[in-house]
Amino acid sequence: MKRIFEVQPWDIVTHKFDPKDKRLQESMTSLGNGYMGMRGFFEEDYSADTLQGLYLGGVWFPDKTRVGWWKNGYPKYFGKVINAVNFIKMNFLIDGEKLDLAKDDFSDFQIDLNMKDSLLTRSFIVNKSGNKIKFIFERFLSVDQKELSVQKVTFENLSNQSVEIKAISAIDANVKNEDANYDERFWDVLDITDNSIVAKTKPNNFGTPQFTSAMQMSHITSLTEVDQNKTESEVSKTFYSKLTSGEQASIEKRVIVTTSRDYDSISELTASMHKLTNEVSKKSYDELFSAHRDIWAQRWNKSDIQIKGDTEAQQGMRFNLFGLFSTYYGDDARLNFGPKGFTGEKYGGATYWDTEAFCIPVYLGITDPKVTRNLLMYRYKQLDGAYVNAKEQGLDGALFPMVTFNGIECHNEWEITFEEIHRNGDIAFAIYNYTRYTGDKSYVLNEGSKVLTEISRFWADRVHFSQRNNQYMIHGVTGPDEYENNVDNNWYTNYLARWTLEYTLKVLDEVSPEQAIKLNISEDEKKHWQDIVNRMYLPYDEKLGIFEQHDGFLDKDLKPVSELPSDQLPLNQNWSWDKILRSPYIKQGDVIQGIWDFMDDFTEEEKKRNFDFYEPLTVHESSLSAAIYSVLAADLHYEDKAVALYERTARLDLDNYNNDTDDGLHITSMTGGWISIVHGFAGMRVHDDGTLSYKPFLPKKWDSYSFRQVFRGRVIEITVDKSGSHFKLVSGEPLSIKVNDELVELN
Ligand code: BGC
Repeated sequence: MKRIFEVQPWDIVTHKFDPKDKRLQESMTSLGNGYMGMRGFFEEDYSADTLQGLYLGGVWFPDKTRVGWWKNGYPKYFGKVINAVNFIKMNFLIDGEKLDLAKDDFSDFQIDLNMKDSLLTRSFIVNKSGNKIKFIFERFLSVDQKELSVQKVTFENLSNQSVEIKAISAIDANVKNEDANYDERFWDVLDITDNSIVAKTKPNNFGTPQFTSAMQMSHITSLTEVDQNKTESEVSKTFYSKLTSGEQASIEKRVIVTTSRDYDSISELTASMHKLTNEVSKKSYDELFSAHRDIWAQRWNKSDIQIKGDTEAQQGMRFNLFGLFSTYYGDDARLNFGPKGFTGEKYGGATYWDTEAFCIPVYLGITDPKVTRNLLMYRYKQLDGAYVNAKEQGLDGALFPMVTFNGIECHNEWEITFEEIHRNGDIAFAIYNYTRYTGDKSYVLNEGSKVLTEISRFWADRVHFSQRNNQYMIHGVTGPDEYENNVDNNWYTNYLARWTLEYTLKVLDEVSPEQAIKLNISEDEKKHWQDIVNRMYLPYDEKLGIFEQHDGFLDKDLKPVSELPSDQLPLNQNWSWDKILRSPYIKQGDVIQGIWDFMDDFTEEEKKRNFDFYEPLTVHESSLSAAIYSVLAADLHYEDKAVALYERTARLDLDNYNNDTDDGLHITSMTGGWISIVHGFAGMRVHDDGTLSYKPFLPKKWDSYSFRQVFRGRVIEITVDKSGSHFKLVSGEPLSIKVNDELVELN
């Protein structure tokens, strides 16, 4: 655990600069607008360790798979988000000497990410060549004009004599990915003008699309432009000023970024870049900023969770929502959530099961239903890829990928790509979750029924029949707990497979005759699915009364995590993989994840027995873990535990709990704060009949919390304080809800 930022309700701010924490600082001060995003790396060159990262949504490269021993069926490439052409680059010369915080003497450092406005500010006073200059950097990625990045640098001469300042502003295509299998550079420059670069991703052998991106910079400044430079990969402009003692000056840099994802030809892409550059040139910095800020204000107004009496909890919650909104607000149906969003290279910016299992439950509550519907459509549109994945395994139907950009599996670890098949069930579950929450059946009865059918076909082929037990089984899988590989009969996977078949059969009874013809399912096929439903094996231990995570789990040496010396944790940084696999320690909810999904299916005693058994064995080394346990703890009235787990999930990156935030934020885990508060502390559930219910409690340390929730055309405001819980209908038709099992009318 390491905290380098101060505790403030709306800001991620620090007054300290430690080069050792540079990467951590960069991750924590990332910005994004759904279209593009960047780590909080410095504008100017920094000659010590840094991870420069600037990413464009949906722009990726198939990096050839690198494995020790090739096995048939391995995905041929690992899809990676590409580090984009660096368009924020600005260097400064002070009396001819280059500013470099890795070497310079400086004071009064501050870096401040204001979450309310999504604005990053950095300031310091540098003492260089006998001069003292104050720098203030500001930057934002506009949510009003998604292609627009705005930077402003103000400098003030605090010395007694005049100082010459040069600002060199550039677009630099000489960038690389730190995590590239063959050390390649991914961009080829097509064109460089005196203020723009057009670059295209290299050709690849895998038949995946190449992307072109174009960037044009413009400057607003009182400084004089004195030079222009072009190399093969960089364009720059130099501005000059001599500042007298006490004098201030500034330079504003605007960059428009367009990509081939939105245009059919390079000429259209560059024409649009010019047009947008021209359009924004008519507006002042304040106008551009206030349009951006107003949209953020609307987002906060709709979904802010206010916590009174605990600033740490408040900051964590806002940081969660800020990370999510910076990554995805549903504006582009072709995009999805990368687990690290725009904050790092890890997980390659690809789509994981995180979307269905963690993001959808939150986005259902905070955005318009069409956002979640788009996320469901994303999978529907990738069915062709899912057929390929199933075929690679020699199986029928569709296997949606664990990791993907286009529907084709693009991760390169066997136990994840081909064993973690539970994601197929999670994708089916998301269809049910959406339908249950919104009441909108239009997806499930059309596109959804196709997705469910093809997933069911996969399950029906992937199970095998054990003659000895007279039951269906699923061998050779990895459950959500990735600290176990190639196990037989993972309870979660078997439960989801059975549930999917059962749900699909129900949906098939409801689809229109035309849709039924399109789906082309024979009575025999349905009968077979029903047989699997009836005779699926689910590991259960009678003596303990718990679902066994998988066959043989209970034969392990079941010592609780509390008995491990603390210097052994996190296990993934201290133990061999072999030792981890043999141990009983659980990376993230597995049985508990299943219980959370199907809360209404289990009795209080079942939930309690399973939680009491599995929680002491769980190390939460996936950031996705804590929130789910927090909800279950709240459900079981283990309130202190629920709150501790909330703190872990909401402040996971702020306090660097897993010691791995330096390479990027855990964006999909940022759903954890909302899930813990809304599903956990407020006990919100939507039941099969569409009833919305709550069982709220207030954490002891807090004075109150309140949030707004979108539900079936309404916005509901919930406040829980020391006097109890209060519900208000902010907009929409009257609604009956249940609070602590009592009917409450919202008018
Ligand atoms: C988790 C997976 C998750 C992935 C991306 C892994 O550490 O175990 O469940 O999909 O991270 O967030």
